[in-house]
Amino acid sequence: MQTMTRKEAARLGLKKYNTTKPCIRGHHSARYVNTGACSSCIAVYSREYRERLGHDSTHVKIWLRSKKDEKKVLKFVDALNFDRELKEISEGIM
Ligand SMILES: [Zn+2]
Repeated sequence: MQTMTRKEAARLGLKKYNTTKPCIRGHHSARYVNTGACSSCIAVYSREYRERLGHDSTHVKIWLRSKKDEKKVLKFVDALNFDRELKEISEGIM
């Protein structure tokens, strides 16, 4: 498969592309255009996830809950920052 940059792949409307650079784990696999994620890493990640689910579903449920909470926390922080910016802007005007 021909190697290209993510931008080129996106322009061509591809879902995956090959790059000359290995991923952080050293895979020379195709990358997803939308996320830039390595397809081998995704495969490893989903296998680990399935194994965890098979062995200890409670653990996965807790893990998923914490991931969800992480998003909530990030949204909350975003809202806080937005409020602060808004306050700074309004204080700047007055
Ligand atoms: Zn990888």
